[in-house]
Amino acid sequence: MPTRSAPAASSPKALPAAAGAGAAVTPKSQPQKALEKLGLRRDIDLALHLPLRYEDETRITRLADARDGDMVQVEAQVTHSEITFRPRRQLRVTVDDGSDTCVLRFINFYPSHQKTLSVGARVRVRGEIRGGFVGREMVHPSFRAAGGELATALTPVYPTVAGLPQAYLRKAVLGGLARADLAETLPAEFLSKNLPQPLSSLREALQFLHHPTPDVMLATLEDRSHPAWQRLKAEELLAQQLSQLQARRVRAAMRAPPLRSPVHGPQCTLQEQLLERLPFRLTAAQQRVGTEIAADLTRNAPMHRLLQGDVGSGKTVVAALAAARCMDAGWQCALMAPTEILAEQHFRKLIGWLEPLGIQTAWLTGSQKAKERREALAVIESGAAGLVVGTHAVIQDKVVFKNLALAIIDEQHRFGVAQRLALRSKMTPTSQVGAQPGGEEPHLLMMTATPIPRTLAMSYYADLDVSTIDELPPGRTPIVTKVVSEARRDEVVERIRSQLAEGRQVYWVCPLIEESESVDLINATQTHEALSAALPGTQVGLLHSRMPVAEKKAVMALFTSGQLGVLVSTTVIEVGVDVPNASLMVIEHAERFGLSQLHQLRGRVGRGAAASACVLLYSTGDAPRLGETARARLKAMVETQDGFEIARRDLEIRGPGEFLGARQSGAPLLRFADLATDTELLAWARALAPVMLYNYPELAHRHILRWLGGKAEFLKA
Ligand code: ADP
Ligand code: MG
Repeated sequence: MPTRSAPAASSPKALPAAAGAGAAVTPKSQPQKALEKLGLRRDIDLALHLPLRYEDETRITRLADARDGDMVQVEAQVTHSEITFRPRRQLRVTVDDGSDTCVLRFINFYPSHQKTLSVGARVRVRGEIRGGFVGREMVHPSFRAAGGELATALTPVYPTVAGLPQAYLRKAVLGGLARADLAETLPAEFLSKNLPQPLSSLREALQFLHHPTPDVMLATLEDRSHPAWQRLKAEELLAQQLSQLQARRVRAAMRAPPLRSPVHGPQCTLQEQLLERLPFRLTAAQQRVGTEIAADLTRNAPMHRLLQGDVGSGKTVVAALAAARCMDAGWQCALMAPTEILAEQHFRKLIGWLEPLGIQTAWLTGSQKAKERREALAVIESGAAGLVVGTHAVIQDKVVFKNLALAIIDEQHRFGVAQRLALRSKMTPTSQVGAQPGGEEPHLLMMTATPIPRTLAMSYYADLDVSTIDELPPGRTPIVTKVVSEARRDEVVERIRSQLAEGRQVYWVCPLIEESESVDLINATQTHEALSAALPGTQVGLLHSRMPVAEKKAVMALFTSGQLGVLVSTTVIEVGVDVPNASLMVIEHAERFGLSQLHQLRGRVGRGAAASACVLLYSTGDAPRLGETARARLKAMVETQDGFEIARRDLEIRGPGEFLGARQSGAPLLRFADLATDTELLAWARALAPVMLYNYPELAHRHILRWLGGKAEFLKA
């Protein structure tokens, strides 16, 4: 009984062959693009793409010998085949290898399945054996006709992404391995130095990991304790240490203008005047980090400092004081923020503080009119503008500073390495991206509200100085956080009503997921309509990322001035928005947000004196309950409001790879080594990296290139 119901498009056979094969200019096929997405460009990148696990296709197991849960390969004859409809439509095939029988079950199947698995056929089947309801079974095993040679090595299974079939990837990786230059970079004396067992050669280690012989203890591959893994981890840790040493050395050789003597003569300096005009006193923490930054700025080597402080801790004023010091010394300062709304907020705040003191500021953004842009560029180039604020527009080629000495980057994790480098290269109009020893660079101050846990800071940001604001300005009331099921939405609306009645304002955030942007837009629009209907007499605003910038700004201005009671928004308010009268934050589908995102969003309230609350609305969709990580995130939000604790838990939930990846840090991530357990190898790498860099510079260079060459910008950072 042939079946035609499976949609042809999802049949594996229906996949298009590599596009345009044989044509003169071959467009990149999907798997090729996926390879690039994984960063697998060079032969060596492919060779260093190591298996996640292995499958043993070297032998045939007798069904009678297979235990429950085993991944086995059997050869057997089909004795029965039928399509059943209970509990749902499926193909059930019984096979017998003489020792026992087993049922193969397929929920998705095609006519080709039935053909290969027709009664009487002998087949080779691979799958996990399970004790099913009616006997032993394999669900969706792989299969083909019986016979043919058995593999002589374990079959590697590589980490992959959607659109990159395992077979294609395997072929690409093994091809890369065969072509790659695997010449040794470690000096022979390093191989056994302070290590319990000497390291094998890179070539041997890679050959082995891609084709392990069947006699290996699989456990040593899985927990990565096998000597071949040790070699790879040692290599990786050494590359990380070398690149950081090198970056530090390059930076130490750079020059920056020491920002010392005020040129304002006997009057008060800008800094002093700014401090006097502030409507508040600096917290002790703000004063401390201010002193740290000031000390850096007086040196003639470029500052390279990360200012971390929780949401609302008052980083902006610290940045403004640094800018004032820079202008006091007669130099220009630039401040770059990731979004236009955030940049504009900084701009207004800084204008409010600095223009009364006679400072001219310039504003640069992608959306401004040509004439406005031309005028801004002119005052930046002439030096009339002491302070330049803007978005990515600040780093465009056309922007030429007269004498930039300090670059400040807000929410630094939202910028890539290349953008930070571009800002640093603005010091002299002719300089290229990438530092030249002895060249000039501005001082760099990066700010973030997502602190880096200490363990990571030590290994990944070893060449960065860190200042931390560890207290909030006084008078803040803690934010009460509640996790509420979507089913109780009405109660939340009631809560909004009572806040509005007290003259407060409310944020309602809807998630935005890139792949389904339009769907989420509909969500936000519907929520906006529903809230408008439920709250007659209240102005409800809508803000989403697809709106033109001018419209966004207009809505934001209405909310800031208090004319809107409720602001429904996709994540555009994620960073830096400051409306002290807002006292309630509702986050819809909170289960879809990352932990640091939730924390940042929550930080939008609790900025004034009013008691504030954050409601995390969750929905489990079709599932009976929330997934484990989503639950862990929401729990963390309820339990703590401390950004450092949040960061620590985030790291725990996500692991360092994703944690750092999200920041586009540019720091080479450790793929293989684990800082927590590979302490011996880390010590080895830390001890030998300086030796290698000074005694074997050529080998060190090749080693860094081999491991990090695909991330070339980092080498210059
Ligand atoms: P963030 O660190 O998140 O960028 P902001 O710089 O936006 O925080 O500051 C948050 C709010 O706190 C602003 O309204 C700011 O004016 C105010 N603020 C900053 N420092 C102090 C202080 N020492 N005392 C009182 N309010 C302060
Ligand atoms: Mg800020």
